[in-house]
Amino acid sequence: MFDNIAKTNLESLGEFGLIAHITSAVKFKQPTTVKGIGDDAAVLDFSGKKTLVSTDLLLEGIHFDLRYVPLKHLGYKAVQVNLSDIYAMNGVASQITFSLGLSSKFPLEAVEELYSGALLACEKYHVDLVGGDTSASAQGLVISVTSIGHAAAEDIVYRSGAQEGDLLCVSGDLGGAYVGLQLLEREKRIFLENPNIQPDLEGKDYVVERQLKPESRKDIVQLLADLSVKPTAMIDVSDGLASEILHICHASDKGCKLHEDKIPIDPMTYDTSREFGLDPTVCALNGGEDYELLFTIQQADYDRIKNQPDISVIGYITEKSAGCELISKSGKVHPIKAQGWNAFRDNS
Ligand code: ADP
Ligand code: MG
Repeated sequence: MFDNIAKTNLESLGEFGLIAHITSAVKFKQPTTVKGIGDDAAVLDFSGKKTLVSTDLLLEGIHFDLRYVPLKHLGYKAVQVNLSDIYAMNGVASQITFSLGLSSKFPLEAVEELYSGALLACEKYHVDLVGGDTSASAQGLVISVTSIGHAAAEDIVYRSGAQEGDLLCVSGDLGGAYVGLQLLEREKRIFLENPNIQPDLEGKDYVVERQLKPESRKDIVQLLADLSVKPTAMIDVSDGLASEILHICHASDKGCKLHEDKIPIDPMTYDTSREFGLDPTVCALNGGEDYELLFTIQQADYDRIKNQPDISVIGYITEKSAGCELISKSGKVHPIKAQGWNAFRDNS
């Protein structure tokens, strides 16, 4: 691995040399950042707002495969995945910390690639990288990102606020990241069998991008604010629509009806899942990693969102005793089950 890039041994730099090197490009732009990198802790000031904190741990071989994930994309995605949790609280993401465990196979240039992706995400989403930790790891790459944000107390949206009669909505489209993963896994298998065959991802850019370079939905949080719509409950779609719907229903002590024919699926996702013999709806329900926002709104807000191309109404909230049900295209009723991440792994 890393055959085609220059190699500078990390040992020659040492921990402090590495930290100084990778953080030299970091700039602080957020007014809420009082002190960023360089002391024992960052200092932030949210002047009266509530602070939001979320963290994720990403392990090589469990969460990502460096045989087809470029390091720059990985850095970008690691940040996006984490910011998504702040947006799912209806908050403003303002800082992250980025921590690394590096095994001896990683040269400085690999770390630079990873960081360039992370910093690109920070720049694009107006987030300051205010710290982290750096350590050797016995095996493989470990990344941990913590994101920090803020919101006025009355703006925060929890998973638990859905009420009977609320509309169930989702941003963007679903299933693409999972289908993209199937393609990348297939090309990896072909490559491992015959390294002379080049990957064939022609015409599949959208689904591959959904897997490798997801975008968290800061824009949807802004859109809802512009429309004066405050969701009653919200969660981001990391483990698949089914799992996230159940989280909202359990936290809110409610049931729901989800209409299969309303689930937004991109045509490329649809066609590609069919090529793999997969049901596109199952990819949306159980695939995960779409990082869209799933939320509930009061019926009275329907007129405000009904013409938004990036928001789909996919069902509604019921009383708990009615259960959580999917109404299929043919009108059959199925209980919604979360397969989420486990099924996602078993199937790949
Ligand atoms: P400590 O000994 O207190 O853990 P470090 O020497 O690890 O301090 O870190 C010094 C500074 O560099 C701190 O501000 C820390 O947040 C920052 N830092 C360390 N590793 C990283 C990293 N991977 N990315 C960004 N900042 C980092
Ligand atoms: Mg440290």
